[in-house]
Amino acid sequence: MLERIVRILDFRFWILDSSPKACMFVRCYARPPKFSIQNPKSKIQNMVPSLSKTFVALLLVLASVSVHAQDSAHELNNQGAQLYASGQFDAAIQAFERAYELASDNTVIRRNLCNAHQSAANALAKDADFAAAAKHLELAIGVDPENDAPLVQLGSYYLRLDLVPEAIARLEEAINLAPRNLDAHELLGDAYYNDNDLASARTQWEWVIQIAPQRTGLRQKIEKASREESVEAAFRPSSSRHFQFTYTPEIQGRTLRRVLNVLERAYVDVGREFGVSPPTPIQVIVYNAQEFSEATQTGQHVGALYDGKIRLPMLGPDGTPLSDEELKKRLYHEFTHVVVRFTAGNDVPWWLNEGLAETTARGDLDPNELALLRESARQGKLFRLSALDGNQMSKLNPATLGAAYAQSHATVHYLRTRFGRQRLTNVLSDLAQHVPPQEAIHRSFNRNYKALEEEVIRAYNLTG
Ligand SMILES: [Zn+2]
Repeated sequence: MLERIVRILDFRFWILDSSPKACMFVRCYARPPKFSIQNPKSKIQNMVPSLSKTFVALLLVLASVSVHAQDSAHELNNQGAQLYASGQFDAAIQAFERAYELASDNTVIRRNLCNAHQSAANALAKDADFAAAAKHLELAIGVDPENDAPLVQLGSYYLRLDLVPEAIARLEEAINLAPRNLDAHELLGDAYYNDNDLASARTQWEWVIQIAPQRTGLRQKIEKASREESVEAAFRPSSSRHFQFTYTPEIQGRTLRRVLNVLERAYVDVGREFGVSPPTPIQVIVYNAQEFSEATQTGQHVGALYDGKIRLPMLGPDGTPLSDEELKKRLYHEFTHVVVRFTAGNDVPWWLNEGLAETTARGDLDPNELALLRESARQGKLFRLSALDGNQMSKLNPATLGAAYAQSHATVHYLRTRFGRQRLTNVLSDLAQHVPPQEAIHRSFNRNYKALEEEVIRAYNLTG
């Protein structure tokens, strides 16, 4: 009887890269107590499920239920395993659930049901349906509460959904069960970072890197957080309805209120344009010019950026605050990146992301941009759109970067005015589901990049 029960392999889920790649954002709340790193040894021995233990548990179950129920539970479990193996996760879940009703103490059936929920969640996440994926994982955790894997997976999806307190709670639970789970610690560091608790983030990441020094991208995250920590050490906190601010003490209250009012208007206006309301609070760091360039390692040509948090140099090198007009342009631009990331994730082509931000913040091209584009066209230096899919910030010098922005702006403004906003929103939905950029553009606008480039040249009379 024992050998008939099939145990599906522990499911290894697809971990999301939660680090933002282009211009990006975050939130605030009452901070939960920070998780401290514990000596993991005693816990690990208790939690690694050994095969012999599994069989002991199974024997106990078998002794306590009727022979008929055992057979049914085994049959249903094995049916579930077959369905699982063929990728039919919902049907597998139904079979495992019925097996679980008949033998709810059976650890193999419980784990199989949990794994099936995790796989169903993974499939949904690949289609960018993180909310539905999270529901599966809540069920998985209910069925198999001693298993850290669904907790880590759920933590990573909550991070993707920008539900930072929920992510922190689930990742801390995972670490309580599995103190040496490196993914859980790194993701918890990400969540603390998004919560703007840089010191706690660094503690988690530094612990991970001691054990796994080769982990991709982790050293860069630690360096970035350390740099920001040293610049922002004396910064002060404030908040508005949808935003959490950390600001340089050089900023006067009146000036900070201007920032706050513009952002609250952007939340409504830009949210309406794209038909979404990103989760709040969104983190905003307000610097003077020098602090901004120290924290972000960017030159003076960068007017603000979004890397998961909106970062704004509100005071110029001489201490003068930005004008109302300039402030509005920069913050509407950055807030558009917040909305784009929330809608489509991190893999939006650079030209589309910047073009949407510029079109939302400025409307049509101004005479300077137009002159820049005409000059680029005259010299045969207009970009191929495919060359602007990747991030250009560190690739191009400031003058060339200006031309790339102008061309991105012209392209999106052309699409927006000729076809309306809905089709651009459809492109973002396709990108969220990992449709390649050219295909996403083709689906919504029925033209390839090359045709689009030529139409923009004609529409703006760039060669005339
Ligand atoms: Zn931008």
